[in-house]
Formats: sequence, C-alpha cells, structure tokens
Amino acid sequence: GVEDALAADVEPGGTADGHRVQLLANIGTAQDAERVAPTAVEGVGLFRTEVLFLERTTAPTRQEQATVYAQALSALGDRKVVVRTLDAGADKPLAFATQPDEENPALGVRGYRLVRHDPELLETQLAALGAAQSDAGTAPWVMAPMIATASEARDFAARARAHGLTTVGVMVEVPAAALRAREILAEVDFVSLGTNDLAQYTMATDRLRGELADLLDPWQPAVLDLVDATARAGLELHKPVGVCGESASDPVLALVLVGLGVTSLSMSAGAVPAVRYALRHHTRAQCATMAAAALAAESAPSARASVVAMLAPEV
Ligand code: PEP
Ligand code: MG
Repeated sequence: GVEDALAADVEPGGTADGHRVQLLANIGTAQDAERVAPTAVEGVGLFRTEVLFLERTTAPTRQEQATVYAQALSALGDRKVVVRTLDAGADKPLAFATQPDEENPALGVRGYRLVRHDPELLETQLAALGAAQSDAGTAPWVMAPMIATASEARDFAARARAHGLTTVGVMVEVPAAALRAREILAEVDFVSLGTNDLAQYTMATDRLRGELADLLDPWQPAVLDLVDATARAGLELHKPVGVCGESASDPVLALVLVGLGVTSLSMSAGAVPAVRYALRHHTRAQCATMAAAALAAESAPSARASVVAMLAPEV
C-alpha cells in the first residue's frame, strides 16, 4: 500500500561505523506529518500538540483531538511518532489553560503542572490519543513536558497507561529532571531532552531574550553536563534518550550529542540532511572524543571550536 511505498524511502541515520541514530522530525500539526512523510525521516520525535489548542477559547473536544492525532499517525504509517501532551504556559500562553496572575510564568503552573488545576484537560487528551491509536492501528509514543520529579513521571505514566498507551516517556528540560534522570527513567520507557528549556533553566536565562543568546547557547558546558548525566542514565537502564530541542539541528553539536550517548535526534525536517551527512562521516568513537573535548572546555565558544577542529575534512 501507500504506507509501504513511503516506508521504503526511510533512511536510517547512523555513524560511519554503523552505530544507529534515529533522525526524526519536529511537527506541530497533522499537515506537518503529511509533509514530512515523503522524506527519509524515521518518524516524528516531537509532535507539539499545543498548536491544536492555540487561538481557541475552549479546549478541542476528545473527538476533535482524536481525528487530528489519527490523521498524523496514519500519515507516518508504522514509523515512530512521539506525541507530547499539552505544553501551555510561559512562552506558549493559552487563554483557557494558563494562570493570569503569575509573576514568573516560566516558573509557574505550565506544562505537566496544569494537571494540578485541570486534570480533565490531560485526561481528555490521553483518551483522544487512545482512540487515535485504535483508529490508526498504530501506537504513538507519548510524553509529558516540564517534568521535574520522578513522582510526576510516575503519575503521568499511570495516567497514560490507563488509556491503553504503551510507550510512555517524559521530557527532560528541567535541570532537576536531568540530575535525577536515573530515578525518572525507572518510571518510564524513554526520555527526550528539550534543550531549549533545559538551557533556559540551567542558565537562568529567558529563552526569548535575544541579548542573552550567549548564555542560552546549548554549547554551554553546564548544559552539556546535564545532557551527559541524562544519556548515562539511559545507557545504564538500556532506555532511549532522545534530543528534540533546537540543538539537535546543529550538525556539529549533533556529533557531540551522539558521543554523549543520545540515541535519537529530532529537529525541523529541513535540518535532517546536514545532520545525517555529518554523522555518516564520523565514527561513534570520534563522536565520543568530540563529546569529551566539549565537556572539558571552559566556555561555549571554546567547546564548539574544539569540536570544529576535529571534524572530518569533508564536513
Ligand atoms: C524544548 O524545550 O527544548 C522543547 C523541545 O520544547 P519547546 O521548544 O516546545 O518548549
Ligand atoms: Mg520545552
């Protein structure tokens, strides 16, 4: 069928010595899923479902959501699709879900924390995902944003599994979650590092504040230390650790992430070919050497310069 024809064009990512690294796309709509389906990506590593909730005065119904999720799942056939539950608040304000009276919305009731005020919002979304799974005949991976503790991860996993969802994970984008990655991974099947927020919270730097871009740089050794801690926990527990923040789309940083032990990289679909090319020209051992050099650097620019100096001549 059509899905087989599309699947035949999928091209697994990996290093020069054949170490596999899944290359995935970030999407926000079912139309995006249809756009990336004909490309070589191995699936979707981040479906930002909040797009469906934006510019509305009430949440979309379970049926409305199920239709969109089933459409996205069907577009990707049997490829992996990681759906993130609603991440409202701070840089993603939502009229009906965010608290109007917060002085520090980035530190407030956002992401998974909305469950404290409105558990029905999450339950409806999980029910819609369960229904979409039955309709599309393919099982999504499901993850929650802004998880800070193992107990939040445990609560989310229980809620998702109660709706028949079988592959359940959380984002690691709060430093506390990276520091306790082992305990969090014990509760779930996978994690995905959100380096945009991880950099914001590690460096105490608003991600929308352009003049502080040097601090927000994902090459900051402190941010890489937290990626390292998370990837190590994944290797120990034999569970996947992905990256779905913008950092995955920098081909040079992608080498470092793979060297740290990250197992998948999700980015805007247009960034995949350059990352694929960079990986293909380096071995896993070379990536590990680059990662060690980046961790040993004392600043973001020197981390990047030390890795650039090690690149294969054709990259
Ligand atoms: C992130 O924080 O890195 C992430 C992938 O999610 P978002 O950019 O949607 O917050
Ligand atoms: Mg985020």
